[in-house]
Amino acid sequence: MSAVPGTTNQELRSSDLIAVREQLGREPTVPFTVMARCTGGHPLVIRNAPRDASGAPFPTTYWLTCLLAGKAVSRLEAEGLIARFNERERTDPAFAEALNAAHRSYAADRARDLSEALEDGGVGGTRRGVKCLHAHYAFHLAGGIDPIGAWVAEQVDPVHAETRGGRVAAIDQGTNSIRLLVVEPPNVAGDDPTELARDMVITRLGQGVDRTGRIDPAALARTVVVLANYCRRARALGAEAIRVTATSAVRDAENRDEFAAAVLEHAGSDLEVISGEREAGLSFLGGTRGLPDDVDPPYLVLDIGGGSTEFVMGRLPGKAEDAISTQMGSVRLTERFIRSDPPDRRELSALELAVADVLDDAESHVPIGDARTLVAVAGTATTLQAIALDLDRYDPEAIHRTWLSLAEAERVLSALAGMTSAERAALPVMAPGRGDVIVAGGVILVIAMRRFGFERALVSETDILDGLAFEMLDIR
Ligand SMILES: [Zn+2]
Repeated sequence: MSAVPGTTNQELRSSDLIAVREQLGREPTVPFTVMARCTGGHPLVIRNAPRDASGAPFPTTYWLTCLLAGKAVSRLEAEGLIARFNERERTDPAFAEALNAAHRSYAADRARDLSEALEDGGVGGTRRGVKCLHAHYAFHLAGGIDPIGAWVAEQVDPVHAETRGGRVAAIDQGTNSIRLLVVEPPNVAGDDPTELARDMVITRLGQGVDRTGRIDPAALARTVVVLANYCRRARALGAEAIRVTATSAVRDAENRDEFAAAVLEHAGSDLEVISGEREAGLSFLGGTRGLPDDVDPPYLVLDIGGGSTEFVMGRLPGKAEDAISTQMGSVRLTERFIRSDPPDRRELSALELAVADVLDDAESHVPIGDARTLVAVAGTATTLQAIALDLDRYDPEAIHRTWLSLAEAERVLSALAGMTSAERAALPVMAPGRGDVIVAGGVILVIAMRRFGFERALVSETDILDGLAFEMLDIR
């Protein structure tokens, strides 16, 4: 499998590029993604790529961009804290070890994206000691274990006087990916919550579960690393509750208690292994809440996952009425049908037939043909749309609630099916770890659109993860 353990996604919204340009007062020179936001939603911490555009090392991975947060930390520096911490490092061995562990984990974190970058130093680009409190605070906010960053947070949080309480974090463990959403409740009831962090890492927890019935130890280990980071980041951002739901792969695994134990340890809450029906309800809530009036009901939400695919119907945004969860997904179908790279014609035909069978069964349970609007959620559909739109980087803002025609979906799928996994993985919008399974996911989407007569699909970035966060905030 080509899943890269722990590689952070590289999403970047155009509005964030503009905001960070203003915060820095210049053009950013290094590709970045936003890791954490302040109340109001402006970028707080960005994660820089390990090399700049010219290929030169860029050792500061996490960068505090909020101006107010930067000023608050600068005041601490002006009080002479850096010298005091360096003195403490020389005299307090336990502190020195904790600090050095932070440097090592910072370097290892960067090396996940580029192994040579392990040599570029630790927090703030230094190997030992303390150089810059901003870098430590940024690392802490991004989910790092950093004694200085945690101390700075105690001094400066909350940076913004208008910061609201009641923040919550939702984590969705799928078959292919683990995702985080941290939100602040809205000021006015009925408004959308403010997003403070959103992340997605493909660790493929469900690797082999279809065949063995068990979660693979290596897949579990790389997933727990990400889970622990998410939980630390959520707490650093003030989340008062963290809920973790798991769907298909965990649902089907005999040893799911091993994952549940990690969830209890890091999130402080019980893992919620949710039924296909509940998964469908949350997916519909996340996918349809706030749909514009010109989109005709009934809606069909199609949630193509790694291990299962949900078909959910409803006439009102946010309110699912009828659903079926099927045992087909991009990872499961890839493991069952694809042997060649690129897949050969016979493999694709067998895959298409298997999907058609499942669709027949789904339609016998849910009146899918009655739907007027198809809402396609999750990574398969959003990535196909990113390619159809010819985006040069993954920009969720450019994708969310845009239409993908059947003809475009067919064109993109055909192009992807003709590429090797490595060629697909190299596309700038492809999340690390999605390249080898997107063809199977795309077949589900295209066959479903043809079968049920949808000429186009409304592609949605919001889905089950948002549904869970809405539920936690009691937003319906
Ligand atoms: Zn701020």
